[in-house]
Amino acid sequence: MALQIDDGELLTTTRGWIDADRPVNSLEDALALQQLLRQHEHKYYVLNQPIISDWEYDMLYKKLEKAEALNPQFVRANSPTQRVGSSLNQGFETVSHIVPMLSLDNSYSAADLTDWDRKVRDMSKLAEVEYCIEPKFDGASLSLLYDTDLLVRSATRGDGVQGDDITANSKQIRNIPLSANFSQFGLQQVEIRGEVMMTKAAFADYNSSLAREGTGPLANPRNAAAGSLRLKDPREVGRRKLEAFLYHVSWFSKLENPALATRPTPTTHAQMLQMMWDLGFKSPMHEMKVVQGIQGVIDYCNAYEAIRDELPYEIDGMVVKVNNLDLQERLGMTTHHPRWAMAYKFKARQATTKLIGVDFQVGRTGAVTPVAKLEPVYLGGVTVSSISMHNADYISEKDLRLGDTVLVERAGDVIPQIVKSLPQFRQGHEQIIVYPKCCPACQSTLFKEADEAVWRCINIECPAQVVEKMIHFVSKDALDIKSFGEQQVRKFYQDDLLKDIPGIYTLDFERIGTLDGFGSKSIDNLKQAIAASKQQPLHRLIYGLGIRHVGESMAKALAQQVNHLLDIEQFNTEQLLEIPDVGPKVAASIVQFFKNPQNIEMLRQLEDLGLNMVQQKQAATAMGEARFSGLSFLFTGTLSRLKRSEAEAQVEKLGGSILGGVSSKLHYLVVGADAGSKLEKAKKIPAITILSEDDFVSLMQQE
Ligand code: AMP
Ligand code: ZN
Repeated sequence: MALQIDDGELLTTTRGWIDADRPVNSLEDALALQQLLRQHEHKYYVLNQPIISDWEYDMLYKKLEKAEALNPQFVRANSPTQRVGSSLNQGFETVSHIVPMLSLDNSYSAADLTDWDRKVRDMSKLAEVEYCIEPKFDGASLSLLYDTDLLVRSATRGDGVQGDDITANSKQIRNIPLSANFSQFGLQQVEIRGEVMMTKAAFADYNSSLAREGTGPLANPRNAAAGSLRLKDPREVGRRKLEAFLYHVSWFSKLENPALATRPTPTTHAQMLQMMWDLGFKSPMHEMKVVQGIQGVIDYCNAYEAIRDELPYEIDGMVVKVNNLDLQERLGMTTHHPRWAMAYKFKARQATTKLIGVDFQVGRTGAVTPVAKLEPVYLGGVTVSSISMHNADYISEKDLRLGDTVLVERAGDVIPQIVKSLPQFRQGHEQIIVYPKCCPACQSTLFKEADEAVWRCINIECPAQVVEKMIHFVSKDALDIKSFGEQQVRKFYQDDLLKDIPGIYTLDFERIGTLDGFGSKSIDNLKQAIAASKQQPLHRLIYGLGIRHVGESMAKALAQQVNHLLDIEQFNTEQLLEIPDVGPKVAASIVQFFKNPQNIEMLRQLEDLGLNMVQQKQAATAMGEARFSGLSFLFTGTLSRLKRSEAEAQVEKLGGSILGGVSSKLHYLVVGADAGSKLEKAKKIPAITILSEDDFVSLMQQE
């Protein structure tokens, strides 16, 4: 049964149910009512043209809900009542995408597009290429998996290879069909990509509701959509008024019995969009355009840029795709992006406003950053009221003065910037910005290194730094102590409940219980989260220490090199430099950190408090199977039989380690399709054995 049927016919059937209060007596009745509700959902959520009132819809929905409750055998997985799921009490499960969700290559001008077109024509040996252009929706991406016409899974993009399973939440997005008749196109399993969006209006509503609750506003609709997808309570997701544009079929398998298909399988991207549209998805059918040759692409991009502010949702550019799917396949992809698609980014948006103040903020490394306070200004979906001015040079180069009118700009994802001051608007009372000589938090004298632009407070006991360090320590990418965020750290610090990192593990919960907003439930959660953090893998602890220049991937590389955290104390600069990606700056900073007796003392305390300081992989393999023990691996290019993450997990399970880059420490480089610079580099180092994917698989299977 089709979703898109004639309004008159749909209305007559609907009236039949409502006016005569038709009862649900049989399975046939229930299935008919389910289909009727699906058709109304489609009218409302995909076409934005409801033909009955919300009240009438609710009545029909309740009728179905009641009938299904009395007769559970009427329930079908795609019944509109099945969108409601229960809350998660744990985190989301990690799932692998069938095809990695890659980034898109970016272009910023007509010339960039023309260059790309030339490459596509060269590779395809065509005089002119057919392109399909559609908006680049600025939301949160997701993938949907349908099997035998049913929605079976949905996931966030995650790192592109693996994402979070958000099936229950996706079902709450009403324009995502719970079922779609892919079989008629001869398709069995279908993986679809799309973008979850909050319209500008829904975003504004949502922000005002946050304001009523006393919570700060979110920066933009994209963050709101992304945050909503990761809520633990699907019902709350339902309240956020999200919608999804589905713009891409990334993978499909064919039905075993092709005779069941009644329509041809699409052969172009535009036909895919049409197929999705016909099956009830909100695909950009009305937003897209198919053109011959690049000039048409450029014209369409320009035309769309001119109307972007009139759209009900945010877009940050256009996406141009080679229309023919065979040609897409032939063009293939690099490790970062498909060669058959190109994003065209719209120009930055600018606005003028007044610079009304400067805050000097002390970061966790003691760097003092000037932050401009602005008269709030709306800049392409975001209200901007403060912008970092980075350092003293930035202020003097741009000659920014207090009271100045300034031009601010925001380009796509990039955080807003001050482009320049507009001296023609000065009235004489503007003031030069004076950089403080002393730390605004502890008053000690600021220092600046010769080759650096930032002034720093070097007092290790500086309260601002201590607090920022603790905030970093508990943060999501470090020890990830849930329900212990910036606010809690500041509050406990102010109330003398917390003075340093080890203090996190000796908190006085009795006193905390007397504070406002800390009930026994929230204290239990806090205790649990703190206890759980003790078992975090070593690299998170290393990252959490906030050693300068040691980011997440550097922390992982360091963790790989040791059995115990304090082993690093023994490393000298030369040894550190041997670690992949470690340069002189990083090495110096690590040496300095471990030279400081206060830091060592803190680490000893943390160990006594029960924090994990050993590299667990090596500890684990000492007990289990350790055939790869002491051997290091690195994967490059696209693997065809295994997912990279799985292959890496297997290596680690067998006691091997994964390195971050090619160096003389590497034993095996496993090479998939389209391998690039890593392979070239490895060929020059005789000690490295280069394996194909098949070699790797047989190596694993050896006894
Ligand atoms: P980027 O992350 O900037 O490289 O851009 C890639 C992302 O753009 C994809 O992962 C999608 O989430 C998003 N996107 C938005 N609209 C589209 C579209 N029409 N086609 C493909 N990707 C899109
Ligand atoms: Zn200070």
